[in-house]
Amino acid sequence: MKRRLIVYSDLDGTLLDHRTYSFEPARPALDALLEAGIPLVFCTSKTRLETEHWRRALANVHPFIVENGGAAFVPEGYFGPEARFDKRAGGFGVLEFGRPYSELRRALERIRAATGLPLRGFGDMTVEEIAEHAGFTRQDAERAMMREYDEPFIGVEEGLLPRVVREAEALGLQIVSGGRFHHLVGGNDKGRAVRALRSLYEENRGPVRTVGLGDSANDLPMLQAVDVPILVRKPDGGRLDATHLPGLVVAPYAGPDGWREAVLRVLGGVI
Ligand SMILES: [Mg+2]
Repeated sequence: MKRRLIVYSDLDGTLLDHRTYSFEPARPALDALLEAGIPLVFCTSKTRLETEHWRRALANVHPFIVENGGAAFVPEGYFGPEARFDKRAGGFGVLEFGRPYSELRRALERIRAATGLPLRGFGDMTVEEIAEHAGFTRQDAERAMMREYDEPFIGVEEGLLPRVVREAEALGLQIVSGGRFHHLVGGNDKGRAVRALRSLYEENRGPVRTVGLGDSANDLPMLQAVDVPILVRKPDGGRLDATHLPGLVVAPYAGPDGWREAVLRVLGGVI
């Protein structure tokens, strides 16, 4: 049986330009996926509200993964009535993997005290500070503050990340690093959520071939969980060291330009 293609993609720095957040360069490949009826599943560190905003902007109707694999949201009816979810909310079935945000906030305080580092999470920042750090509008920043499973933070001095990681691990939590922020999470990563959605697709629609696109360390678990891992370059043309991933494809350009080229090659059967 022919395997259906499913494309998982990071947003920031991958489908969206690192600086401008534009997806226009990816448009020809987005149109080609739409035409071929291939699901595009966003897999991001963004919150549900932010991701829903980008889904609307891209007219995307597929499931999506938020907050570094903290939860997967599946539109009601997408997989039929027998699909099992942890909860239902706002027209979605929700699979939850992360720990509650209030727990992460308490833990960040303890890590700050233990390390003496000036760590500042989104929960410590004003809307204006978040907007400035992320290059967001005020409205974007408000959506980014509505967190449920992942606390982005700054304030790690050069070379001291291992200390933060040790303190987080002592509390049973993990640190993952994205393009702009480190993130405190509890048990979730993008790969776990990608595998859970893959199972739902296979149970409901038959065998699949999965593609994943990302640019940062927090994308590695996703790239490990897919059949075709694709790494897009950083804006300076460099890239993350991910040579340990079998079958890794490196897109020729950064962000949405690399995304377009890689996806068109997959659709053309070259990859
Ligand atoms: Mg990224």
